[in-house]
Amino acid sequence: MPDRRRPLVAGNWKMNGRAADLLEIAAIRSAVLAGQAAAAEIVVCPPVTLLMDAGRVCAGSPVKLGAQDCDPAQDGAHTGDVSAEMLKDAGASYVIVGHSERRACHAESDALVRAKAGAALRAGLDVILCVGETQAERVAGAALERVAAQLGASLPNDAAHLVVAYEPVWAIGTGVTPTAADIAAMHGFVRGQLERHFPGGGKKVRVLYGGSVRPENAAELLAIEEVDGALVGGASLKASEFMIIAGAYSVLKAP
Ligand code: PEP
Repeated sequence: MPDRRRPLVAGNWKMNGRAADLLEIAAIRSAVLAGQAAAAEIVVCPPVTLLMDAGRVCAGSPVKLGAQDCDPAQDGAHTGDVSAEMLKDAGASYVIVGHSERRACHAESDALVRAKAGAALRAGLDVILCVGETQAERVAGAALERVAAQLGASLPNDAAHLVVAYEPVWAIGTGVTPTAADIAAMHGFVRGQLERHFPGGGKKVRVLYGGSVRPENAAELLAIEEVDGALVGGASLKASEFMIIAGAYSVLKAP
């Protein structure tokens, strides 16, 4: 990995977490301050209800916070939605857009995901844009085609402050992961797409792997060529597990 791409390990808490779980974020903060995973940037994406309190917990530490979604609009008559500007105001540095659960459960189109990514950049947030094929698409040999189409239709105009997460839908929350060879092939492909979309800038975009990353497989997955870090779901809810995953970077790769 070129030196300029610092590894990133991000935890996506999804719709999990109560005030008591801020203790897990406090434990992540302590571990990061103690130098675990010093080579990696660490981001926690709690539910929006915990964002401000999590900001107080992480104050004075390198742990950054992210949100899991944003609305394309800045303010106004959008009952129940939260804008990127509000997330920034609440202490977020990152926002995930286009997660497969939002694409599937909220019928989010690539065009909407692109609008959300643009809104995030407008607000001064870094974007973690998720792409990935379904099991049926993988079996049909259409994984690369699907990811290329998602990237083509949902990438924002600017590569600065952009992170892409390759998350095969069939690997999310299932305990199943692609082979190392398949991950390497997809990440190489995504890198090529990014360089084509952003001449000069695509090389700098970090491409994370997501889908059943666990303490037991993190070292192997994070060592794969062109994998610049991980987007971690279930295993990010416990600081002890999340920090084992992030800690893979204390032995694998220098910043
Ligand atoms: C995710 O939700 O982005 C994810 C990768 O989940 P899990 O790690 O639980 O598969």
